[in-house]
Amino acid sequence: MKVSAVRLWHLPLKSHEAYHMADGKTCDTVETVVLALDTDAGVTGWGEVCPIPRYLPAYARGVQPAIAELAPILLGSDPIGPHAVMSKADAWLQGHAYAKSAIDIALWDLTAKVAALPLYRVLGGRQADSMPLYHSITCIAPDEMARIAREARAQGIGQFQVKLGASGDWQTDVERLTEVRKAVGPGPLVYGDWNMGATSLEATRVGRAVCDLDIMLEQPCRTIAECARVRDATGLPMKLDEAAFDTETLLEGHARACMDAVALKLSKFGGISACRAARDLCLHLGARMCIEDTWGSDIATAALLHLAVTTPPSRLLNTCDLSGYVGPRLDAKAPSREGGRIAPPEGPGLGVEPDPDILGDPDLTLE
Ligand SMILES: [Mg+2]
Repeated sequence: MKVSAVRLWHLPLKSHEAYHMADGKTCDTVETVVLALDTDAGVTGWGEVCPIPRYLPAYARGVQPAIAELAPILLGSDPIGPHAVMSKADAWLQGHAYAKSAIDIALWDLTAKVAALPLYRVLGGRQADSMPLYHSITCIAPDEMARIAREARAQGIGQFQVKLGASGDWQTDVERLTEVRKAVGPGPLVYGDWNMGATSLEATRVGRAVCDLDIMLEQPCRTIAECARVRDATGLPMKLDEAAFDTETLLEGHARACMDAVALKLSKFGGISACRAARDLCLHLGARMCIEDTWGSDIATAALLHLAVTTPPSRLLNTCDLSGYVGPRLDAKAPSREGGRIAPPEGPGLGVEPDPDILGDPDLTLE
């Protein structure tokens, strides 16, 4: 089997509720990139990557030129066994992990489709019937955030990510954490995420004001060193996200004792293959893991669910139903949250097929 064509689409995904983070970062309508790897056997593998603007060193319109640059590696390659193709891609074009993520997902889709197995079986086997989801709460007025938390709690959600820093004053962030903590009652996990938008001074003031509550902090500052300073000063557990994106940064987070939990996003590491290696390292390092991606619809969501379900449940903190936050759904039959939990699709490969009417004509075709 050989890859005979590469097709690519750009599609707007609209959030059901505009989503605000620190430093003016917003998810309202965000462009996602869908990739198809067609083969001479008539089987197609699907990939997706959806960078959030100004969130990481990645942008949606950067995917197409990277894919075009990699065309000599992709066209004519044998797609079965993604590591071999991804090794060549890494040698041909360094970096650009987010663009490679879409390729790697499509290669895994093809590999599992040819095996006629759901992808999770090819990745090592299912370790849970379903997985816990967190609910991410946009950074708005504290009482509104508490209302959203209560509604999600009533649907069975047991983990709440409270976005912080959008109003630029640390006292309102204290109210956000205090009100959400009170709204969901004892038991559920509550964590405050600054998306790197705080200084260690602000984050420490917030953390010390809530340090008698059951709260975890997430990526308050840009660097791992600053996050470690906040953890040391507040005594609160710390989740890393933006600053942990490869082997070196995971080892640094561990060495500085500020990685109680970590977000493993497919496109941060470069796809399922690279994220699976990071997952295995984190099993060794002892961090709890959120296996997810930055944003996206049903292809990205299916990919992360297949990897997440092959992770020991005792080590998987949670996962994310990205496609539940946005429209359109690329595959109306793809999994949705039920009682605060979700399971991967059951068909061969990723188990999702994007609706051709929603995709329309591709923006790029390489043959
Ligand atoms: Mg985060």
